[in-house]
Amino acid sequence: MSQGLVTAAYIVSALMFILSLAGLSKQESAKAGNWYGVAGMTIALIATILDPKVSGVGYIIVAMVIGAIIGIRLALKVEMTQMPELVAILHSFVGLAAVLVGFNSYFEHHEAAAAAKEALASVNELAMALGGKVEPVNSAMQNIHLTEVFLGVFIGAITFTGSIVAFGKLRGVMSSTPLNIPFKHKLNLLAVVASTVLMIHFVQQGGETWPLIVMTLIAFAFGWHLVASIGGADMPVVVSMLNSYSGWAAAAAGFMLSNDLLIVTGALVGSSGAILSYIMCKAMNRSFISVIAGGFGTDGSSAGSSEEQGEHKETTAEDVAETLKNASSVIITPGYGMAVAQAQYPVAEITQKLRNAGVEVRFGIHPVAGRLPGHMNVLLAEAKVPYDIVLEMDEINDDFPETDVVLVIGANDTVNPAALDDPNSPIAGMPVLEVWNAKEVIVFKRSMNTGYAGVQNPLFFKENSWMLFGDAKASVDNINKAL
Ligand code: NDP
Repeated sequence: MSQGLVTAAYIVSALMFILSLAGLSKQESAKAGNWYGVAGMTIALIATILDPKVSGVGYIIVAMVIGAIIGIRLALKVEMTQMPELVAILHSFVGLAAVLVGFNSYFEHHEAAAAAKEALASVNELAMALGGKVEPVNSAMQNIHLTEVFLGVFIGAITFTGSIVAFGKLRGVMSSTPLNIPFKHKLNLLAVVASTVLMIHFVQQGGETWPLIVMTLIAFAFGWHLVASIGGADMPVVVSMLNSYSGWAAAAAGFMLSNDLLIVTGALVGSSGAILSYIMCKAMNRSFISVIAGGFGTDGSSAGSSEEQGEHKETTAEDVAETLKNASSVIITPGYGMAVAQAQYPVAEITQKLRNAGVEVRFGIHPVAGRLPGHMNVLLAEAKVPYDIVLEMDEINDDFPETDVVLVIGANDTVNPAALDDPNSPIAGMPVLEVWNAKEVIVFKRSMNTGYAGVQNPLFFKENSWMLFGDAKASVDNINKAL
């Protein structure tokens, strides 16, 4: 394949990726968006393999086949609720790849630069003998390259360890409470200052190895600490922020490999991840800077309480069915528990039954419900719930006072009034679905356990709240039968 054709293929791929992002922004066009992405990536892979500059194609194909087999096996096995963990660990691979590309590019360039330096010295000697001096002409290019390598490794290393911690927190193998070591913000600042000093030294000295290695170790620790310091409730922003970092790491790798498509794709992922992080921060009433700086500006001391705060009342599926039959308006607010139980299908069935009986049924979706952006929307779309009755939190929050019944299906933090009433709560300030304003609230869950942020929910002890204990799918199935 000629170089011109490779460039043309890369442009087509880049366009496909832009169309893919545009498609993914709406539920109706999300499938098409996915296909654009698949097509763009296929073209990119073929063009890269056939690029005349690329050697060792046999090794690449063997690596791709092994990677594809592992990837397909994992993707087939992974539960929908494990998707955020999968995304987090994939981000860590991008980070690690950027670190490896950086070191590879550094050593390759280091050898070439040493040979060039030697050649230049002999030319210089000759020129001196003739009464002149040859100035090195490539120092600017070399400085740019060294800076690229340094920044690429820095971003990649932070992304790598940060994503591993995010994976651990999302999988539940690491605590979701924020790590609170003394002087944590000063330590973060020190890591940034030390890395900057090392970069200046690295570039000025024409690429000594030790500053690069020391910075890599600092960046590994920095990435780990940044994400470990963030509490469970702020994890959505962390995941989208790491998504953004992985994009910038890929773009940095693109610069080092002189691959234009990798630069464009990395920049697309980096900027869309940054926009998503900003949107999530706004939705959760969090400061963007505070979250990306590892919870800067918060003292992190508000761990919240998991103690029960009064008496709760229990109900049965039959009683709930009776209440629903007598209601004229119902709002369903799903959360992570609906995803765990896979209750979306029976939920869609009772929705249809109630609508057929003339009851107005709508869904209220919190922006961070579940464990990944759009989690609930995907599940409801899967179960064929009509899009027009699925509303965002801001669109529905004012309607709760006129609503007869709210079904809180496996949601907890996203319907917790402590976010508005308790300034010391870890979720303080986060807008929530104000379900307690409805006439009656039924909470579907298995126990009095807390949600992801680890705080008890005063909603469960309110006058108008009833607990329906059990697996959400079994409970909704029972209501379905009783209806
Ligand atoms: P929560 O995680 O706060 O609570 C889920 C509830 O579901 C639990 O209290 C649990 O209670 C219940 N549950 C679990 N399994 C079942 C089951 N099989 N049947 C019935 N109930 C079940 O959910 P929300 O969706 O309200 O909040 C999401 C939280 O996750 C927020 O804190 C958010 O910040 C965080 N987060 C969100 C991300 C995103 O991008 N959306 C990413 C990372 C974190 P019990 O054990 O008693 O059954």
